[in-house]
Amino acid sequence: MEAVPGASEKPLNAIERKTLLYKSGLGFHCINHVLGCSHGCRYPCYAFLMARHHGRIRDYEEWCRPRIVGNALELLDQELARKRVLPDCVHLCLTTDPFMNGQPEVGAMSLAIIERLNHCGIECSVLTKGRLPAELADRRRFPCDNTHGISLVSLDEDFRREWEPGAASYAERIVALRRLHEAGRRTLAHIEPYPTPSILEQELAEILAEVKFVDHVYFSGWNYNPRVGRDPADAAFYRRQSAVVRRFCAQHGIDCDLA
Ligand code: SF4
Repeated sequence: MEAVPGASEKPLNAIERKTLLYKSGLGFHCINHVLGCSHGCRYPCYAFLMARHHGRIRDYEEWCRPRIVGNALELLDQELARKRVLPDCVHLCLTTDPFMNGQPEVGAMSLAIIERLNHCGIECSVLTKGRLPAELADRRRFPCDNTHGISLVSLDEDFRREWEPGAASYAERIVALRRLHEAGRRTLAHIEPYPTPSILEQELAEILAEVKFVDHVYFSGWNYNPRVGRDPADAAFYRRQSAVVRRFCAQHGIDCDLA
């Protein structure tokens, strides 16, 4: 039977790792303190494809039953103590979600990791399809200028249920992001993978309008799916959408990154 993504609030099975903090091939430092992700995105999720390819998980069902790295905080303390030069910034997460919907243990560990890093003077950037916790606004606990991001590729809940079945609703993500913005925190809308009209007809301007308060927008197309990219019309579509993002960001004084 197929796992129901996002369904569990039960304690997670733990795994042990030998290392935690690393520099990714993308050039920035990351922490991935969970194996798997109950959001179960079907774009497909690149982290899922890699975990399956390398034999770390068997299949989609196993991916949707995340396992927390039980020794993550211990490892982080050891690794920070050993480093002669600390990274300026650490990203959570590249291969899982730090505020996974319905997984309070994951969120609690993410907060503890960010707290540890901030108290060493290391900024964090976080990206989630869950709800960013209100605690992140607490400057005594999180003194650095962290960046708080949500993934947002649509406002259509039917689309979300099909493609991001275990994730939080779009409205919940936006509310949590706005709360951090109103508390003076830096915020980011990560619009990737943006669907082509062959997958979903929608207006990008309507999505941007919902997050016009953010400091930063990242926009990119849809990769790793055979339904996108072969048609030259897709490239033209993404050029037009990039222009929409660029114009919107210029009008609203928002930093903008286009892939
Ligand atoms: S939220 Fe991210 S890590 Fe989790 S399944 Fe979706 S794409 Fe993969």
